[in-house]
Amino acid sequence: MAKITLSNLAHSYLPDPAGEEDYALKELDHVWEDGKAYALLGASGCGKSTLLNIISGLLHPSRGRILFNDHDVTDQPTAARNIAQVFQFPVVYDTMSVRENLAFPLKNRGAATSYVHDRVQAIAQMIGMEHELDRKARGLTADAKQKISLGRGMVREDVNAILFDEPLTVIDPHMKWELRTQLKSLHQDFGHTMIYVTHDQTEALTFADQVVVMHDGRVVQMGTPEELFQRPAHTFVGYFIGSPGMNLLDAKIDGRRGYVDGIEIDLGAAYGAPVGRVQIGIRPEFVHLTDAADGLPVNIRRVEDVGRHRIVRADFFGTEINIVVPEDKPIGADMNRLALDPAGINVYVNDWRLAPEAAPGPVGEAA
Ligand code: ADP
Ligand code: MG
Repeated sequence: MAKITLSNLAHSYLPDPAGEEDYALKELDHVWEDGKAYALLGASGCGKSTLLNIISGLLHPSRGRILFNDHDVTDQPTAARNIAQVFQFPVVYDTMSVRENLAFPLKNRGAATSYVHDRVQAIAQMIGMEHELDRKARGLTADAKQKISLGRGMVREDVNAILFDEPLTVIDPHMKWELRTQLKSLHQDFGHTMIYVTHDQTEALTFADQVVVMHDGRVVQMGTPEELFQRPAHTFVGYFIGSPGMNLLDAKIDGRRGYVDGIEIDLGAAYGAPVGRVQIGIRPEFVHLTDAADGLPVNIRRVEDVGRHRIVRADFFGTEINIVVPEDKPIGADMNRLALDPAGINVYVNDWRLAPEAAPGPVGEAA
């Protein structure tokens, strides 16, 4: 198992990249700690597979270095890196049985027969194929073949890391949940460094200790699910995570007061006088419907009941604002204004979160 360090890494698929826009992966410095479970989350085309393939050695980066436990592996081939990688679509040997497929990575490394037998048995149970071990892979469904690929990725205990690239795409929905739970318990039992690529926030948030969010070739935030929810570092994180995502309102800011279309809002902390595109970000869970005269006036477009709560879709002078209303809270006919809870407010300048100024400490005490 290994700590993986990416140092000044960048990649372009073009032979002569000019500007930043020519890079599928913009310059990146990042450490994946030994034994942690990470999710790499982002929309299709943002560079997730590019990054994963650079770590595994399928792709040589245009710039930068990759270190495993401080040992430079940038110029080493995949085989020498001792990594297991599972892809979006199954990679199995059709003429081999399920058992032979699962055993392959172990036999390849000369593992003892009894160990191979036990390990294959354990993995087969994990992927729910213990009764199909002697069937040939040919003729199995895509779903079953992908389970074999997953099993092959997990069978070796001595790998530096296991990389999963959207491995549950072809798996049917109820099995998805089951396999994700298995992957998580595998991580708890063996403590491999795992990187799990997905475009699905639910998958990312349930699987990982740390979620790494990518957008447009860049890592925009790494954090726990709570951090991504409470303090999105970039407007993309706010919008991409959460259902619905974070609301954004163009604003002017003066200290701890914000102004949205001239209406004053208490920000809960001071932010100085930022310049650029200044926005207040607030998740729908922190916006409350009110009839108080000092609230933001809105037109309520629609109320959707999603079971656990209701989602109110409102319009504030052309900007859509979503509000989450708990099931037990009535929505009065005269509640057409919004109160923003300062605890849920974040301020963004040109899409990046601005840290609030430190609150002044009590006079006479050391900071
Ligand atoms: P993701 O896995 O997040 O969907 P990728 O890493 O596959 O994203 O792709 C990132 C960007 O690089 C995309 O714009 C994609 O079109 C481009 N790209 C990916 N693979 C290649 C390739 N082999 N040659 C040229 N461009 C590529
Ligand atoms: Mg991909």
